Amino acid sequence: MNNSYDITILGGGPGGYVAAIRASQLGLNTAIIDQDPLGGVCLNWGCIPTKSLLKSAEMINSVKNAEQYGIKISSYKIEHSVIINRSRQISERLSKGISFLMKKNNIKHIHGRGVFSSKNSIKVSNGKKVTNIQSKNFIIATGGRPKNIPGVSFDGKQIISSKEAMVLNKPPKDMVIIGAGAIGCEFAYFYNTCGTKVIMVEMMDRILPMEDEDISKELNNRFVDSGVVINTNAIVEKVEKLKTKVKVHIKNGNKKIVVESSTVLIAIGITGNVDDIGLNTIGVNIDNGSIIIDEYGQTNIPNIFAIGDVSGPPWLAHVASAQGHVAVEKIANHNTRPVDYSNIPSCTYCQPQVASLGLTEAKAKEQGYKIKVGKFYFKSSGKALSIGEPNGFVKIIFDSKYGELLGCHIIGAEATEMIQELVIAKSLEATWENLALTMHPHPTLSESIMEAALDAYGIGVHQ
Ligand SMILES: Cc1cc2nc3c(=O)[nH]c(=O)nc-3n(C[C@H](O)[C@H](O)[C@H](O)COP(=O)(O)OP(=O)(O)OC[C@H]3O[C@@H](n4cnc5c(N)ncnc54)[C@H](O)[C@@H]3O)c2cc1C
Repeated sequence: MNNSYDITILGGGPGGYVAAIRASQLGLNTAIIDQDPLGGVCLNWGCIPTKSLLKSAEMINSVKNAEQYGIKISSYKIEHSVIINRSRQISERLSKGISFLMKKNNIKHIHGRGVFSSKNSIKVSNGKKVTNIQSKNFIIATGGRPKNIPGVSFDGKQIISSKEAMVLNKPPKDMVIIGAGAIGCEFAYFYNTCGTKVIMVEMMDRILPMEDEDISKELNNRFVDSGVVINTNAIVEKVEKLKTKVKVHIKNGNKKIVVESSTVLIAIGITGNVDDIGLNTIGVNIDNGSIIIDEYGQTNIPNIFAIGDVSGPPWLAHVASAQGHVAVEKIANHNTRPVDYSNIPSCTYCQPQVASLGLTEAKAKEQGYKIKVGKFYFKSSGKALSIGEPNGFVKIIFDSKYGELLGCHIIGAEATEMIQELVIAKSLEATWENLALTMHPHPTLSESIMEAALDAYGIGVHQ
């Protein structure tokens, strides 16, 4: 077998497989190596299985609220194992789909763990044999894994990461979730809906701390209304594992609090998979658990690129794929342009959904912009009322000088679908007028974007 390639991709997640397909389209002889089923964390243990679980939670809430739509459901039963199996089956199906795409694009799929032996070679072991792969170029797309609190270890039962949280046999009686970013909030919504008593612990002053402050407040209120307990400004000092429960010792200013539950989910971020893959041997520069790259994904070693979670935040599948695309085009000397890091949509798929783009109001002010801010509340939207989703709002931030779109923040139904209008608008350098004066179909939730843009300039209609 000829084990020599133009480009070899280490890791078959969304970054890796998109890069492989683009490489093949550009006529490069391509190999992809993965130790796990293709699709990476995204398809197998991240984006997709969580969204399947969240759909079940949404269905549970629809059943609970069915009466207001004129449907009386006298009894129902939640079968947790069916919820989990559905999620696993969707992941499995998609992973097989990626294997098919590799074959269709003539990409050599090598199953096993890859470790660099030189700048042009990698050794792949699958437990049975070791294969030596030679390649002119490499893309490292080994992804990341959940970060842990120093001194605490995941045991998969009492102290778990998102991976175990996705496949628990049954909803625990109670769960402390440490970390109120997107993953923490999604699981808080899911398990709270499933009947678990959820206690969130966040070291920053608000949940979803990267989002606009107004969004965090709204989500906080909605979570509290649904029974979630939230501790912010809460620094975890100790996690104490007992026989039947775990105690989490928190410091909140001068106050010391202990919260406890049968299960603790730690969702405090991601660290790159940079260890034991031979990076020291070849001298790839790393900083704080992430590979250092330039705007095209190139590392300090010219024929080695890195993309996705292993190259640092934001840890998002669509960022990984976009980086994969650019890296391959750069390697192939194809006309390309760097990833636009100012135009990355960020989504949290709990209910209400949260989606955002660009600068928050605070960041825009911090950067010295004079701004105009428009808001539109879904309670004034005919469509939102018709579908029974009157909570939440759209907030858009414009630079007051030219009306440049600086940021958009949405909380409410279908926020994660609506944000894309703003991503396109920003990539086309649209101004407030383009958003405000372009027709939006009626009645839709997307009209709220038009209304928020009008509101920024004091000419809102339905406020
Ligand atoms: C619970 C959860 C929910 C998420 N939800 C979303 C979401 O809704 N939207 C979103 O955009 N992002 C989401 N993410 C983040 C998203 O999953 C990641 O950003 C994305 O998967 C990163 O892609 P990647 O290509 O960098 O690597 P990964 O998807 O991590 O894939 C890396 C692959 O490389 C393999 N690998 C690693 N080392 C080696 C080696 N030495 N040899 C061979 N193979 C190796 C791994 O086994 C893995 O299959 C979520 C993450 C989690 C954990």
